[in-house]
Amino acid sequence: MPRENDSELFISEYTSEFVDRWDELIDWDRRRQAEGGFFENILAAGHAKTVLDIACGTGYHTVSLGLSGFDVTGSDGSANMVEKAKENAKQSGLENTRLLVANWTSLTSSFPDEKFDAIVCLGNAFTHLFNDEERLKALAEIYGLLNDDGTAVIDHRNYDTMLDKGFTSKHLYYYLGETVDARPETVTEETVRLQYSYSDGSVHHLTVCPVRQDHLTFLLRETGFQTVERYGDFQSDYDFYDPDFIIQVAKKYALPVTPSPESGKSI
Ligand code: SAH
Repeated sequence: MPRENDSELFISEYTSEFVDRWDELIDWDRRRQAEGGFFENILAAGHAKTVLDIACGTGYHTVSLGLSGFDVTGSDGSANMVEKAKENAKQSGLENTRLLVANWTSLTSSFPDEKFDAIVCLGNAFTHLFNDEERLKALAEIYGLLNDDGTAVIDHRNYDTMLDKGFTSKHLYYYLGETVDARPETVTEETVRLQYSYSDGSVHHLTVCPVRQDHLTFLLRETGFQTVERYGDFQSDYDFYDPDFIIQVAKKYALPVTPSPESGKSI
């Protein structure tokens, strides 16, 4: 059973030492290459100009999307992460980027009187939520902060594969740093404990809650999003168990419309 205060667990797990080494894990250059402009294309297709990156972490997408011309705000529930993101934004010449500490369950209070064209929650971040009550609360906050015709983008590891078939990783798209091994230490339907082992012997852990692809799609629809398109490792056509990562793109339409059969697998 999930512990009662699991929703705050991430704050203690992202220690300043782990946060300092996060970029060694994700490797900005190789990640950018692996993504191949995927998120930029999705946001441009949705005509987004203003973007809120609610799990900014060390700022990878806030900075990348900012450099691509989007008007990006970054937020994160971990003050350690936000500090690091500020450093990284400054180093990338984006020192004026707005970056602040904000928890998903009370996002609206951090952005009163403001709406965004797109909200992204990337890097398997959403699985830091441990039950449907928290997930639906966070999704309602996201939905409420989106403009009409807005786009929400949430990604997560392919937990269906991890739970049903066992962990594998192609190691092609995420966590590309060569000095870190990232793998689940334990896997159950309730909790996955991820272990990050660095080549110098330092080891860090994160505790997340596996969410199955169909379940997150269901929760997005429950929240009110009219369409959800899914991608597996950035491909719209994919076998359910094949990809390492799933990306869900949800639309909040102003009017009930039939979306054009653009790209991702429409659910
Ligand atoms: N998007 C970044 C960071 C991913 S790590 C990347 O891809 O590199 C997941 C992030 O989600 C962490 O920075 C963590 O602090 C944040 N997070 C987890 N739960 C949160 C919550 N309830 N509210 C706000 N941020 C949260």
